[in-house]
Amino acid sequence: MAISSFDEDTLRLASPEYGIEESDYEINLRPKTLDEYIGQEKVKDNLDVYMQAALKRNEPLDHVLLYGPPGLGKTTLAGIIANTMGSQIRITSGPAIEKPGDLAALLTNLNEGDILFIDEIHRLSRSVEEVLYPAMEDNAIDIIIGKGPSARSIRLDLQKFTLVAATTRSGSLSAPLRDRFGVVLRLELYTPEQLSQIVKRSARILGIGIDDEAAIEIASRSRGTPRLANRYLKRVRDFAEVLGSGDITLNDARIALEKMEIDELGLDNIDRLILTTMINNYNGGPVGLQTLSAAIGEEAVTIEDVYEPYLMQAGFIDRRPRGRVVTNAAYIHLGIPIPGNNGQGSLF
Ligand code: ADP
Repeated sequence: MAISSFDEDTLRLASPEYGIEESDYEINLRPKTLDEYIGQEKVKDNLDVYMQAALKRNEPLDHVLLYGPPGLGKTTLAGIIANTMGSQIRITSGPAIEKPGDLAALLTNLNEGDILFIDEIHRLSRSVEEVLYPAMEDNAIDIIIGKGPSARSIRLDLQKFTLVAATTRSGSLSAPLRDRFGVVLRLELYTPEQLSQIVKRSARILGIGIDDEAAIEIASRSRGTPRLANRYLKRVRDFAEVLGSGDITLNDARIALEKMEIDELGLDNIDRLILTTMINNYNGGPVGLQTLSAAIGEEAVTIEDVYEPYLMQAGFIDRRPRGRVVTNAAYIHLGIPIPGNNGQGSLF
């Protein structure tokens, strides 16, 4: 069995081949063990048990589905799984696998115990997805050889592998696919305290000095998402280097985040555009997703996957059967007067 850990080389080798670009910066910041991975305690506890049990039995881990908004650490977890299991990881994504033959080629090249990570698995086409069913269940694929009346199907055995798949929307996975995962784990948005630990860890790795208050300031504006926390840390460092002493202070963090138009709750200008469009054009809602998408010029999936989870968690948007509505808290946050009792947009 080819063994390599989830290290920089593995990712660097695997990524270009399968169409995922990784900056050196992201690779260095990715935790490589569960102990280094901050937060998501329930996910970590369960995964730890499943991995230890599989290792004891000397078997590959069951197939794992990770779901949650972008930037919460799904790819990172896939790497940690590979590292812990002592397996090689192959990285690809739903949109990169265009034809059933592409997936067949990937699967037949796997060695025993390998991890195949498919990001955005909900974007696999139906015909590609169907190749996965026997692969996941029976470690085999069916290949059609020839055309017309002489066509015949042959079954190719695969090595025992583990599929680790990530999706931002488990709801759009077909039931037959979802049912074939033995382990399904949901990632939650992080608390500001957890994000502040992530910011401090990243600062340590990147050799940046940062005050506790500055770390918590960045964390609380990062909308529960480690990827944003790391990105803001990098940009705040730029400001601190140009403006001041070197170490990042609370003041540096505030100035930088304001310049980036990230407000105290982490809303950026697209979040604010979503809320103000709903308020100004649709009296606060209900507004359908497609209508909103056309009005602000962002794709509906982006609104749903990237913006909405945090706006809902922050209590600014509520989903109703007839569409989204803006809550009173959003009016207050934006400094817009709440319409009177007959204002359709107000919730309470
Ligand atoms: P996803 O695959 O869910 O979009 P990633 O795994 O790419 O998210 O994570 C985004 C970034 O956030 C990575 O650079 C990683 O270093 C960091 N990160 C994610 N989760 C954690 C965590 N629990 N602890 C520390 N850093 C994390």
